[in-house]
Amino acid sequence: MKRTGRREPDSRPALTALAYSDGLTIPVVGRRHRRARRLIVRVKSGQGAVVTMPWRSSIKAANEFVNRHRDWICSQWVATNHARLTIWREGAELLVHGQLTRIERISAGPSVYGRIGPVMCRVDGRDDDLKPRLEPALRMYARSWLMGRLRQHADRHGLKPGAVTVRNQRSRWGSCSSAGTISLNWRLIQAPEATADYVILHELTHLDHLDHSPAFWHALEGRCPDYRDHEQWLKSCESLPGMLPHAQP
Ligand SMILES: [Zn+2]
Repeated sequence: MKRTGRREPDSRPALTALAYSDGLTIPVVGRRHRRARRLIVRVKSGQGAVVTMPWRSSIKAANEFVNRHRDWICSQWVATNHARLTIWREGAELLVHGQLTRIERISAGPSVYGRIGPVMCRVDGRDDDLKPRLEPALRMYARSWLMGRLRQHADRHGLKPGAVTVRNQRSRWGSCSSAGTISLNWRLIQAPEATADYVILHELTHLDHLDHSPAFWHALEGRCPDYRDHEQWLKSCESLPGMLPHAQP
């Protein structure tokens, strides 16, 4: 006969994710251990916050514990997240179109594919680091996405840019030369779509106003009324989790 008694608790309970900023959250998972005596939280790259829980401790207590340590967890998470971006391992997360997006590794027969959001490509199956193949694929995607978007905005506003390039600028999101050549930074693919649109509209507006005069801002505001919010995002985004470092080799 089966012994009845207290039901065994879930050894891997899901806990409440921690709101981080601008709708971003840090995943939080519990790990019950029979020998754990107290709650302990660690921040693991690719996983989020992992809370070690005594076997009979409640989910409520674990959630409260996480909330008490939220500042520490957030700072650790930003640190580990940045640290791991030099190597694109499975499970690491990058911002793509403003969303934290996991890097996946998919085996299909003898082939191995890397995937991040809309981008998938074949990778070297022996290598843990998917960056050598996946990053060029993401850049290629960025190029076609940004070019397409620029064309749409140019058509809508009747603007005629000269050459358009998508590059890997060190410190600029975009530029417009006096000859009307527009350059966009491929990492704009990390920004929310509306923010990338803002940079495109900003550079397109330079076709008529090559300076940052009041007339320039006035024209830009007509095309992008909430441009100040996007400027703010671009100024502070370097500290966001999942943001690639400024100068990409
Ligand atoms: Zn400008």
